[in-house]
Amino acid sequence: QSNEFQHMIEAHTLAANFYSHLLLNTVEGEKALHYLEQRGFSRDHIEKYGIGWSLDDREVLTQLLQRKKFDMKEMERAGLCIMKNDGTGYFDRFRGRIMFPLHDDNGNVVAFSGRILTNTKEEAKYLNSPETPIFEKSRLLYNFHHARLNVRKTGKVILFEGFMDTISAERAGVMNSVAVMGTSLSDTHLTKLKRIANQLIICCDGDNAGWEAAKRFALLSSEKGLDAQIALLPGKMDPDEYISTYGGEAFTDKILGNPHSYMSFIMAYYKRSKNLSHENDVLQYIHEVMEELARKVSPIERDLMIRQLSSETGVSKEALNEQLMKKVGTLA
Ligand code: ATP
Ligand code: MN
Ligand code: MN
Ligand code: MN
Repeated sequence: QSNEFQHMIEAHTLAANFYSHLLLNTVEGEKALHYLEQRGFSRDHIEKYGIGWSLDDREVLTQLLQRKKFDMKEMERAGLCIMKNDGTGYFDRFRGRIMFPLHDDNGNVVAFSGRILTNTKEEAKYLNSPETPIFEKSRLLYNFHHARLNVRKTGKVILFEGFMDTISAERAGVMNSVAVMGTSLSDTHLTKLKRIANQLIICCDGDNAGWEAAKRFALLSSEKGLDAQIALLPGKMDPDEYISTYGGEAFTDKILGNPHSYMSFIMAYYKRSKNLSHENDVLQYIHEVMEELARKVSPIERDLMIRQLSSETGVSKEALNEQLMKKVGTLA
């Protein structure tokens, strides 16, 4: 089995070099190269992240792997090739996509995420390798091997939803970020982060999915005993869009430099969907915030939040405190 591991990693390394060559040195790669340039990637960065291009061809990689005498059954288990329906051979899993290699903690290429050039409804924007003996989504964090030292040094790690955000952040000088592959943050991810960091900044996209993800991530981290703060983006922007619009300095100063505590985040979260000039919304908002305040919050934080709630809703601090004491009473 450790042989199989080795073969799979060798094949991924070969594939990554091949994809990179296709992107950087061939006519077929020009469109993809142009796309990346438009998104602000320099050649240096493309090389640093090992980004490549998989031709719009059914079997170039398959043929290369066969020429190099890889066992095709193994290559199918590795997620690089797929068996044809009639069983007469194999074809490439990734075709016509910008290829982002995913590395394990030792820096080995163990999987890919492939992005289409033009967003369409028919095709998934990103196609990831399936789970394989060398790639577990619940274990791998994008950029962990790069960021590890800087995370240890600063004690701080930034968590993004998308690996594109990690790449943009590094281009803006943020060297201690990682991203999940997909939207779930696992206990294994948190264990890995907690081992090297004592502070986590969660920075999700500004769209609805991002707010939901931020809430989930924050709850999971606090259950894990990892101190998490949440950095919020204006509008529906994601970190990458923010950086290309306002620049890296604005991102580090205004966004990462000004993260919210869980309580402050959760108030913003509940306020988002409300119109506080409507009485019903005000009552609902107070109710939701009270539920949170009644749980584990320090007296100081409770006081701060009550003040904020009072000024947002026009309800007196005394009334809010009284209501809260009742709620705590029924919980106890
Ligand atoms: P881009 O800037 O290229 O559009 P993004 O990072 O902003 O990429 P999001 O749509 O915000 O992409 O998604 C965040 C993450 O969720 C991606 O990095 C990817 O891991 C995952 N993801 C998004 N769409 C898909 C999809 N269709 N299939 C699988 N994973 C996806
Ligand atoms: Mn998103
Ligand atoms: Mn995004
Ligand atoms: Mn994006």
